[in-house]
Amino acid sequence: MIVRSEPPKASIRGVSAAPGIAVGRAHVLDRGRFATPRRRIDADTTEYERGRLEQAIETSRTELCAIRDQLDVEGAATFRMLLDAHVAMHDDVMLIESAVTLMKAELINAEWALERVIASIKEQFESVSDGYFRERAGDVEQVGERILRQLVGRVSLLPMVQGGSVLVATDLSPADAVQLSQSRPAAIVLELGSPTSHTAILARAMEIPCIVGVANATRRIAHGDTVVVDALRGDVILDADDAMLARVEERSRRYRHFTGKLRERRSLVPELQDGTVVELSANVELASEVLIANLDGVAGIGLFRTEFLYLGRANPPTEDEQVDVYADVLRAAEQRPVVFRVFDFGGDKLPFASPVARPSNPALALRGLRFALTRLDLLMTQLRAILRASVHGKARIMFPMVATIPDLRRAKQCVLDVQAQLKADGVPFAEVPIGTMIEVPSAVMLADHLAKEADFFSVGTNDLVQYVLALDRSDPKLFSRARLYDPAVLRTLAHVAKAAEHASVPFAMCGDMAADPIALPLVLGLGFRNLSMSLSQMPLAREILSRVNMVQVHALAKDALECATATDVGRLIVQRLGTSLEEVWSENGIDPSSL
Ligand code: PEP
Ligand code: MG
Repeated sequence: MIVRSEPPKASIRGVSAAPGIAVGRAHVLDRGRFATPRRRIDADTTEYERGRLEQAIETSRTELCAIRDQLDVEGAATFRMLLDAHVAMHDDVMLIESAVTLMKAELINAEWALERVIASIKEQFESVSDGYFRERAGDVEQVGERILRQLVGRVSLLPMVQGGSVLVATDLSPADAVQLSQSRPAAIVLELGSPTSHTAILARAMEIPCIVGVANATRRIAHGDTVVVDALRGDVILDADDAMLARVEERSRRYRHFTGKLRERRSLVPELQDGTVVELSANVELASEVLIANLDGVAGIGLFRTEFLYLGRANPPTEDEQVDVYADVLRAAEQRPVVFRVFDFGGDKLPFASPVARPSNPALALRGLRFALTRLDLLMTQLRAILRASVHGKARIMFPMVATIPDLRRAKQCVLDVQAQLKADGVPFAEVPIGTMIEVPSAVMLADHLAKEADFFSVGTNDLVQYVLALDRSDPKLFSRARLYDPAVLRTLAHVAKAAEHASVPFAMCGDMAADPIALPLVLGLGFRNLSMSLSQMPLAREILSRVNMVQVHALAKDALECATATDVGRLIVQRLGTSLEEVWSENGIDPSSL
């Protein structure tokens, strides 16, 4: 039976970034909101104000360096890079020189000038794009705020949070995230952030329930309030009465028991009821995830989204910096394959370039490989770094958003060119298979030809579904779970699987569909045996695998391919697998009657 709890009376909805349920007293991280002091100054005071600003920058830089130096010398390369980027921003001409110029031109005090410069840089970034660029704007804001706090004599360091309490904050910087790993709250609630922010990733790795995007959380929640963090559904409940608290405690206990059971079986080979083995690999955004993860039972890293290395910095990472990170990851993976996906930028996902006009249709503008081929400087540097690091493990290179055969051929030629350079320079490198993502319809239709050019395929359903159904993946209203099992998507996947099987090319799936508790049986039935997903999604996927068998999922997929609508497919899944998967769905907040 599906247990449905009553809707909470006062709750704020956010986006779940790390699953789990917790109840605790709020520790509201209000670093003392303050109004920026604004003063007019005399022309002969500008040098004094400049001195204050420089002193604040110096102190802030020293403080950040101290946090960075708390990191272990081994590993944690990505976190160090993030902190390095923040340290480097202290010297950012845009930030500092603009503040001094403004101070002199308008005769205003350092705090006022700095505040205005931060606001204007932020506005520039935000007006250009959403998503990735916004993270850059967030970095500028975090660094600016640190310096501002120094100027007005406020504390920036994260206070120790008592174990068992719920940390409520506007946002957490990479420096906070590093400190957080020492205090371990019961849950985290953030007003800003995204499931792919560094704090969210760290929260998942430490198994701390975390909800981001909770509007006005620091205003609506008071220090010491008892709050319920339901990070399975994305709800922060503020006025739970005793009856509700008891129910939540019970759900939390059941969830912990359920995940505990799953964890115990973590190192067993993932297999279906009938013994069919499935390979589960990990999708990672930051190297730190791999460095702190337990990789027992994980086949490898099926998707390393390298573009995250380029975010939040003024300049792209150097070749040597990249070699350090890739080598760290390969060593941590201990001879498991690691698929380094070449940076996937373009359209509105530009990392560090100065703001440019927003393309009229970013999803269809220069993206992925097409973009990389216009920035051979970046591409060749990255390929060189991956190849140099390849001696430390089993590296693979994968190109994103491949849309044409000539593009893939040019990309492969780049790899050959870099290999020739390395040989000439006497730099060792290992054999590195080259694969392609299948995430645009043209790649699907050319799958038989691509199979002659690529060593492996990995299907990116996040983009593929968007392009097959012509629905923006970033619009939650349009892009619901039902879209994943739309018959048009299933037929597309069947076509890819068939082409790859026919050509004997290994094929995997690394889009979110591979871990979806409803769609996963269909994915198996269509022939996918190699799935890549975030580490936190793996226990649930293993559980689903263990509750279905090959005959069942084959028959399900065969019949689903004949359906006309997603609703028909949804009904079919519930009809065929409802009994086996009801408990799993219910523990994870899925109501089958809504499919
Ligand atoms: C995908 O599109 O499914 C994919 C895995 O790539 P990303 O989500 O990074 O675009
Ligand atoms: Mg994609």
